[in-house]
Amino acid sequence: MDRKLYINPPLVNRAYDWKKGPQPKTRRELDKFFNSPAINKVKDQICEMGRRIYNKGYTDGNGGNLSVRVGEDLVLCSPTLCCKGFMKREDICLVDMNAGQLCGYRPRTSEVKVHIAMMKAAGMDACMHCHPPHCNAFLFAGMVPPNGVNPEADIFLSQIPLAPYATPGTDAVAKTVSEAAKKSNVVFMANHGIVCGGRDIEEAEWFAENADAYCQVLLLASGHGGKVNQLTPKFVKDIVAIRKAMGLTVDPKQSLYNTHRFNGYKMPVSSK
Ligand SMILES: [Zn+2]
Repeated sequence: MDRKLYINPPLVNRAYDWKKGPQPKTRRELDKFFNSPAINKVKDQICEMGRRIYNKGYTDGNGGNLSVRVGEDLVLCSPTLCCKGFMKREDICLVDMNAGQLCGYRPRTSEVKVHIAMMKAAGMDACMHCHPPHCNAFLFAGMVPPNGVNPEADIFLSQIPLAPYATPGTDAVAKTVSEAAKKSNVVFMANHGIVCGGRDIEEAEWFAENADAYCQVLLLASGHGGKVNQLTPKFVKDIVAIRKAMGLTVDPKQSLYNTHRFNGYKMPVSSK
């Protein structure tokens, strides 16, 4: 790979640097941990990202949920039936990696099972589920956006997988989404919404923004009568190399393009 594509210095690993090994177990230890300054900071980040996705229109009513892993068997998550735009530190829950609630006065979201399955399968430390309208315009039609069109979209999104529909809150959703999360930090869930995973909750939110902005531009481009150009294989290979250098997942079995068609036509190649 071209040396000038290397990223230096390396990016941070995760916002809350939990370690494997002994962790709080008793009621007293759990309460002390749950109310510690470091954990309160993560709870505040969850609330802040909740406000961000609500203000961007990615959630509606009580939709969406957020989580951050803070231990080998500890995950902070948003509560059920709570608007993500107005969460307070006190609303956040602590669960174990089987989704059993350990702390918090509100019941945890049922979707945390999906987040935990993603954390286990793909190593993410933070997950976020929401319903961004432009992403949903694709996935309601059983579609994902084409790759090989925009470098930033390809670097951060790769080829977005589409997880088949399953009833929300069931183990089937956790299974299909976590399998798809091995391919990209963004997973489209058929007929429902998206789930993003990252090293911290803000990174997960960035992926949602990247995905929705890309889908929005593709939808705009589909209406002006022109044809969207696709990059040559050389440029797509460079993008894959940048993804690897950034430590983002690259499925070794993945072909360079997920499709050469968009909006009913074959995409022209942009340049040789
Ligand atoms: Zn949802």
